[in-house]
Amino acid sequence: MDLNMMKEALKKLQLERHFYGHAAGILHFDGDTVAPRASAKYRGETAAFLSQKMYELTTAPSTIELLDSLWACKDELDEVTAREVYLMREDVQELTRIPMDEFTAYSKLRTDSVSAWLEAKEKNDYSIFEPFLAQVIEYTRKFAAYKNPDIPAYEVLLDNYEKGLNTATLDEFFGMLRKEIVPMIEMAKQQKALPDFISAECDVNAQRVLSDYLMDVIGLDKTRCAIAETEHPFTTSMNPFDARITTHYYPNAVLSSVYSVIHEGGHAHYEMGVNPEQMYSPVGSASSMSLHESQSRFYENLIGHDQRFLAVIAPKMRELFPAFKDVSDRELYLAANYVEPSLIRIEADQVTYPLHIMVRYELEKLLVSGELSTRDLPEAWNAKMKEYLGVDVPNDSKGVMQDVHWPSGMFGYFPSYALGSAYASQILNAMKKDIDFDALMEKGELAPITKWLNDNIHFHGSMYDPGVLLEKATGEKFNPAYYVAHLKNVIEDLVK
Ligand SMILES: [Zn+2]
Repeated sequence: MDLNMMKEALKKLQLERHFYGHAAGILHFDGDTVAPRASAKYRGETAAFLSQKMYELTTAPSTIELLDSLWACKDELDEVTAREVYLMREDVQELTRIPMDEFTAYSKLRTDSVSAWLEAKEKNDYSIFEPFLAQVIEYTRKFAAYKNPDIPAYEVLLDNYEKGLNTATLDEFFGMLRKEIVPMIEMAKQQKALPDFISAECDVNAQRVLSDYLMDVIGLDKTRCAIAETEHPFTTSMNPFDARITTHYYPNAVLSSVYSVIHEGGHAHYEMGVNPEQMYSPVGSASSMSLHESQSRFYENLIGHDQRFLAVIAPKMRELFPAFKDVSDRELYLAANYVEPSLIRIEADQVTYPLHIMVRYELEKLLVSGELSTRDLPEAWNAKMKEYLGVDVPNDSKGVMQDVHWPSGMFGYFPSYALGSAYASQILNAMKKDIDFDALMEKGELAPITKWLNDNIHFHGSMYDPGVLLEKATGEKFNPAYYVAHLKNVIEDLVK
């Protein structure tokens, strides 16, 4: 095959992979949202068929030969095609270095592990889940060694989620954060007590109306983005013309859904902002989890929790919810930002949030290295929660078993949440050099802000590794100083 024929074959391969992915994505989303319960078994069969097809297509000898041949003449390829070949070869290597029988056994183990975790959490009995967790960690270690036996397994896992990330960077980042956040928690004690309206009953139908309104305020194009309801909110997308966000409505916690919609809306903006010309290509998806999280946190923390944004949405909340009728803009702002150490990560305020990640980071590092056994994990968890957040963990369901990440084998993932928040502040600092962020926030005009993020982050998809894209967008390497400054501003404003 000459070069042009190979490039044609590459396009055809990408298109086929996209079609399988598209169908599987819709199937998953349907299963998570509106599908009736009895459909699970048969949907599972279809999903397994599609993923088998995808596996065969990706690892076929003809695919490997095509990618190798293209890679051999990478100097003659344009920048985008070279990147596509690079990303697809990584994908193939990822799939082929694990023996098929181990891959299948691990998939089954993860499903069983999540089921055991759900049962253990419900019965508040860690011993049901512990043997599964131990096996998941063993597989995780083994698979990391297949990828790179020369460095500690946890380093491999970090690099899987965020290319170039290592424990040296994270140790420094978290060490610095901890030092800065401890006095902030002390300051937080000066806040007035949390007002009652925050946990007042708010009609769920009215909350649905609010979600619809919020999607408009943050500029989500509803011809390309839909919303649904799930237990745990998430975002998925099929292509830039089809993003789906979800939320969960709690009658006594209206702000929970408000911030789910805004957070997931940030993810959706990213997905809809990639270059549509690359929608079938591996370049046409987000660069990394941390960068993805930087976009959701940008909307959630830097826009959604800002006093000026809350002043924009406050009238709508007063109109929709009787309990909010007499709440002032300032009262809403203080309550929405209330800082208080707590047990549950996903309910944490933005100041104490990174401490929850730090607990997980330090423990999973020890679990993967084998220095901490799964048997001793709950005790270690409770001790760290006490040390970092000053809270007593009443039981394992509200402690070590609160998240789905470890049951499903996602070791090395948690740091991306804290990193994403820090990236967001660094990105805002760069944005302010180009556009008048404060004036736009004052007017509630978010479109130019989103456009900046589109142009500088979203549009590029996976064209660059995350560290490179961050540096291109902000003009400097990762610098957590902006994040610390932001958190300081938040706490100082809350107690003034
Ligand atoms: Zn997120």
